[in-house]
Amino acid sequence: FRDLNDDQGHEVGDQLLRAVAARLNQLPIEHFMQARFGGDEFILLLEGLSLFRDRALLQMEQHVKTVLEVLGQPFILDDGQAHTGTASIGIAMFSDAPDEPRELIKRSELAMYAAKNAGRSGFSFFDPSMQAQVRLRAELEAGMRRALEQDEFRLWYQPQFDVDGHLIGLEALVRWQHPDQGMISPADFIPVAETSGLILPLGRWILRTACEQLVEWRQHPILGRVPIAVNISARQMQHEHFVEDVCSILDQTGANAASLELELTESLLVLDVEQTIRKMQRLRQRGVHFALDDFGTGYSSMSYLKRLPLDKLKIDQSFVRDLMTDPNDAAIIRTIVALGRSLDLSVVAEGVETDEQRQALIASGCRGFQGYLFSRPGSARELEQSLPLQH
Ligand code: C2E
Ligand code: CA
Ligand code: CA
Repeated sequence: FRDLNDDQGHEVGDQLLRAVAARLNQLPIEHFMQARFGGDEFILLLEGLSLFRDRALLQMEQHVKTVLEVLGQPFILDDGQAHTGTASIGIAMFSDAPDEPRELIKRSELAMYAAKNAGRSGFSFFDPSMQAQVRLRAELEAGMRRALEQDEFRLWYQPQFDVDGHLIGLEALVRWQHPDQGMISPADFIPVAETSGLILPLGRWILRTACEQLVEWRQHPILGRVPIAVNISARQMQHEHFVEDVCSILDQTGANAASLELELTESLLVLDVEQTIRKMQRLRQRGVHFALDDFGTGYSSMSYLKRLPLDKLKIDQSFVRDLMTDPNDAAIIRTIVALGRSLDLSVVAEGVETDEQRQALIASGCRGFQGYLFSRPGSARELEQSLPLQH
C-alpha cells in the first residue's frame, strides 16, 4: 500500500483501500463486522465462534486463510493495471481480554506486527501458545498426508470376550507408525484428520484394511468366526458417498458384510438423525452391523434409539473406570444393561482393567467385555500368536 501511495499518489491509494473494503465486505464468513481502523489497517470482528477454545482456534485459522487468499488476488484499479499486495493479520481472542475493548485491539495490533516481522502475507496470534498450537496442527496435517502416501498407518485389533472367556469380536484401532516419532495414538491425530477432511481417505483405508483382514482370517478357527468393528467419524458418515464407499470396499475385498460392524457415537447420530437412519438402513440391508460407541456420554433420545438398526451398545470407559468408587456409575451400568435387553441389543463394557470391575459388571448383568484386563490392542500377527493359547 505504501509503495502504491508513494508512487502513484493518494488517489490511487484510496482506490485500493476502497477495493480492499469492498472485498472484505464480500467475505464468505458468517457473522462478522469490519471497519477501517486507520491508514491501511482494517479490523474484522468475528462472532459466532465455538465456545471450545481449540475448535474456535481452528475456525479462526480457516477464516484468516480465507481473508489472506481473498486479499492476495490482484486488484485492477483505475490506472488499468493489476496490483497485488500482501496482508499481515494479527489475531486476539475475546478470551484474551474479555472486558477491555482497547486492550483487545492493542493485542491484535501487537500480533499483527509479529506477523509482519515474520514475513509477508501471514498471520499471528497474540497468545503464543495458540500460535504454537496452530503450527503443530499444520505440521501434523502435512505429516498425515505424507503418512497416507507412504503407508505409515497400521490397523491394530482389540478382542472382546463374553463371560465364559470366548472371543466375541474385535475392534479395529488405527495407529500411526511415524518414522521418527514412533507409534502415535489416534487420540492425537484423529481430531486433526476430522477437521482437515483427511479422515475421508484415512477412513477408507481403515475400512479396506479391516475388510482385507476379515478375508485373510476367513479360515482361521477362532478369528474367522467373529466380526471386526470399525470406528466411523461423523465426517465420514455425513459424506454423501459413505454408503457406496462401504459397499464398494466390501465388493472389492470380498469380505462378508455380516462380519463388519460399524461403531458410531451418539454425538454423530444427533447431527442429522433422519439422514443417518436412512444410511444405516441401507447398510443394514447389505448385512452390515452397528454398535453405539461411548454409550451414556451423549444425548441419545430413547425415541430414535428404537428406530436405529443397532446391534450393540458399548458402555463408555468412564463408567467402568469409577465403577468401584462411584455408586452412580453402577446404577448407570445397570440401566444401560436393562435398556440393551429391552431393545434386544448386546452390551459390551469398554476399558475393563481389573477383575473387580469385571465381577461388578457381571453382577450388573453385563455379558461382554473389552479392556486391558483381557488384552491390549495389538497387530494382527500379535493377535494370531496370543489367541490360541487363551483357548
Ligand atoms: P474408542 O473408540 O472409545 O476406543 C477405545 C480406546 O480405549 C482405544 O484407545 C483403546 O486402546 C482404549 N482401551 C482399550 N481398553 C482399555 C482399558 O482397559 N483401559 C484404558 N484406559 N483404555 C483402554 P485408542 O486406540 O487410543 O483410540 C482412541 C480413540 O481414537 C478411539 O476411542 C476412537 O474414538 C478413535 N479411533 C481409534 N481408531 C480409530 C479409527 O480407526 N477410526 C476413527 N474414526 N477413530 C478411531
Ligand atoms: Ca470405538
Ligand atoms: Ca469407546
